[in-house]
Amino acid sequence: MVKLFKKQIELSMRMIKSIVLCISCFVVSCTSKEKEVKKASEVITEIPAAPFKYWTWITADTTRSKEEYKAEFKKYRVNGIDAVLINTLANPEVLKKLTPLATKEGLEVHAWMFTMNRPDDAIALQHPEWYAVSKEGNSCFDTRPYIDYYQWLCPTRKESRDHILRLVENLAKVEGITSVHLDYIRYSDIFLPIGLLPKYNLKQDTELPEFDFCYCDVCIRTFQKIHHKNPKESVNTAVDIEWKQFRLTQIKKVVDEAYEIVHRYNKKLTAAVFPYPEMADHMVRQRWDKWNLDEVLPMIYHNFYNEEVDWIGFATRQGVKDLIGKQTKLHTGIYLPPMSTGDVTKAIQLAKDNGAAGISFYDGNAITEEQFEAIKTSKK
Ligand SMILES: [Zn+2]
Repeated sequence: MVKLFKKQIELSMRMIKSIVLCISCFVVSCTSKEKEVKKASEVITEIPAAPFKYWTWITADTTRSKEEYKAEFKKYRVNGIDAVLINTLANPEVLKKLTPLATKEGLEVHAWMFTMNRPDDAIALQHPEWYAVSKEGNSCFDTRPYIDYYQWLCPTRKESRDHILRLVENLAKVEGITSVHLDYIRYSDIFLPIGLLPKYNLKQDTELPEFDFCYCDVCIRTFQKIHHKNPKESVNTAVDIEWKQFRLTQIKKVVDEAYEIVHRYNKKLTAAVFPYPEMADHMVRQRWDKWNLDEVLPMIYHNFYNEEVDWIGFATRQGVKDLIGKQTKLHTGIYLPPMSTGDVTKAIQLAKDNGAAGISFYDGNAITEEQFEAIKTSKK
């Protein structure tokens, strides 16, 4: 009996020992896991942040020689520019010629294209029904709002969308480019920037029907299917939030489809947009913080809005905050022509201080020697 009891104690002791051993193993494995986690986090923090990127927008001129372009790209590179956004009027052949010249100089190339605004697009012009229609009932096919180069397509109609996405795909196929860059990826301005109103001799206190798009049959039909009301009959469409949201969504759909396409070719999707999301929403029905994008370049052109230079910091911060939790990196776009070198230096610092990943200058040809000096100095 005593013997049996002793045996049981021995057994229990052995069990306790093995339990203790197990627990200590568990503790050891926990500690080593913690170490692994710690190591991983150390590794993550050790990865240096990507350097602040400097971009410039340029428009291709097919009359210029290869040598001229080589010299231009070299000039950008030695003055601190890292990336060029080249507008080739969505022509992949022109892009194919220019891309190797720029990449050889160490520049990133981004294929900049006009997206919803397609002035004089030879293919689209064969399809008058593809164009956006104003609340007044005029089509951009023959009635251009504000200016000559405004000829907007409908984002809802399958055929016009497919046409745009084909252009995106053709650019994405070009070897050596980093991204396809969507510009005019929005509706025509329902409100123009306040600084531009005198130029057009306009007063815009309310949403004016001649600048309000798109009221084509497809848009109205698609909207009615969801919401059972006709925006054409609405007295004050500015307060019809479903109609506004519908239009924001139509643009988002084009962007998100473009994102899928360019990624199939291992390219990125970037876009030039209005200064910050609420402002873009209000002025041009563009809600870019909800889009699938790799990099976004808000055009924070303070001079268009009668704002001071420090507004560049304010607007940058708004976009950066709205993108928290998303992969999209923001690069502040500035409009150079009226800016002193002091203002350029200040703008670069404001972009950095407010969380931008880079800065883009409009446009390359307009950068003065003094402004290049300011750019170069900011990199030191
Ligand atoms: Zn439409």
